[in-house]
Amino acid sequence: GESDQHAQVVVLGSGPGGYTAAFRAADLGLNVIMIERYENIGGVCLNVGCIPSKALLHTAEIINEAAEFAHQGVTFSEPEVDLDKLRAHKDDVVGKLTGGLKGLAKQRKVTIVKGYGKFSSANTLSVTDEDGSSQVISFDNCIIAAGSRVTKLPFIPWDDPRVIDSTGALELAEVPERMLVVGGGIIGLEMATVYDALGAKISVVELSPGLIPGPDRDLIRPLEKRIKAKYENIYLNTKVTAIVPTDEGLVCHFEGDKAPETETFDRVLVAIGRSPNGLAIDADLAGVQVDERGFINVDNQMRTNVDHIFAIGDIVGQPMLAHKATHEGKVAAEVIAGHKAYFDARTIPSVAYTDPEIAWMGETEESCKSKGIAYTKGVFPWAASGRSLSRGRNEGMTKVLFDKETGHLIGSGIVGSNAGELIAEAVLALEMNADAHDIGLTIHPHPTLSETLNFAAEVAEGTCTDIY
Ligand code: FAD
Repeated sequence: GESDQHAQVVVLGSGPGGYTAAFRAADLGLNVIMIERYENIGGVCLNVGCIPSKALLHTAEIINEAAEFAHQGVTFSEPEVDLDKLRAHKDDVVGKLTGGLKGLAKQRKVTIVKGYGKFSSANTLSVTDEDGSSQVISFDNCIIAAGSRVTKLPFIPWDDPRVIDSTGALELAEVPERMLVVGGGIIGLEMATVYDALGAKISVVELSPGLIPGPDRDLIRPLEKRIKAKYENIYLNTKVTAIVPTDEGLVCHFEGDKAPETETFDRVLVAIGRSPNGLAIDADLAGVQVDERGFINVDNQMRTNVDHIFAIGDIVGQPMLAHKATHEGKVAAEVIAGHKAYFDARTIPSVAYTDPEIAWMGETEESCKSKGIAYTKGVFPWAASGRSLSRGRNEGMTKVLFDKETGHLIGSGIVGSNAGELIAEAVLALEMNADAHDIGLTIHPHPTLSETLNFAAEVAEGTCTDIY
């Protein structure tokens, strides 16, 4: 035939969406080719996203905890940071996982083809490698899992090495003296947490009136309070209008509430969002519709407008999160294998791994108000949690929201240490249609942070007696 290789399923991209889809399809007996432009599989999440950022955030947590331990009677000396070792540790974590993935692909007989893939028809992709070699791969079904990339504002001087994005920040080339973080969302603030702990003076500039859009503002306040005290400046309602490279540094021009007109920084980290890769794969040659921003529309079986072509992960829309991509990947593979599978998660949790962590899922008080949903709320402040106080932190909070009519849990937000771990129980409770009574009757281990969910539910019911 005209193609060099054929597969029942070709997966374009090897991120969390792509490898999950490929592995599930192979487990269901289909033969699978996965195309990836880079040598390492695992996509953004494993290589330059979730995993390396969390490795460095753990270091930040330890540094911060040690620095604040004196009031418990133990004083540590100033940390000495060996950036090369820290980087090696992070790279080692990433290497173990991406290497492990390759092994898992091999076990399942998933063929990995290295190169950049573009559609050449509704049944073929052409894949070109860096060395110029190219091949045509034909498929019965295709799953587009090409993910997203950093959004590049046009006026930013990207050719200056002092301007970095999240990938550059994770490379950990050095710790600048003064760093401006453009964008007060999850990624920007996580990187700020890392560089602050390593000793950089941080300023954050955010266009909107608040940090981290999404959760209720009372969940953001403990983070805001803490970083206002630690960072040099946080400019809200402020726009960066120009970044001018000079010998003294990067001169940043601001327009907004309380920001100065200009200020000079050693580094600028731009974290203003991510754009889907849908416009860079010649989708039109396969007849797949892509919107003007690069997103691909899919139905609840992850099918595009072309019957045998599916799309999953960041490229199909918000929220751009790894756990959404993996679940969508399973659905696409199962549908191709003939199963009646649907993506119908009731909620997708979000976590900011800042210090303190912020996690939320389902409705917020804000969203209830704007949708006209009547709700009952329970809030448990961690200042009354024995476990939180013994860890030396009192700013946490667990909030639960119940539908006034059905009594079911419809939303939860948590701020404090390990909030990201704790939110999972609320997600399960929501999926199971639990009400406040169910959560209140569930015996939680004492003393744990997990009890705070139990107590918050009892607060909503008016039966909370456990204040310790
Ligand atoms: P991606 O991971 O983007 O993978 C797409 C893959 O396709 C890439 O490997 C790319 O090289 C390849 N590719 C693209 N086009 C082609 C082509 N034409 N030919 C060949 N290969 C191609 N999410 C979380 O849930 N939790 C977190 O803690 C978290 N932290 C993050 C931190 C940072 C700094 C960043 C940047 C992101 C973070 N995310 C996090 C988001 C998460 O990384 C993404 O949601 C996730 O990686 C999306 O998976 P995906 O499979 O859709 O695509």
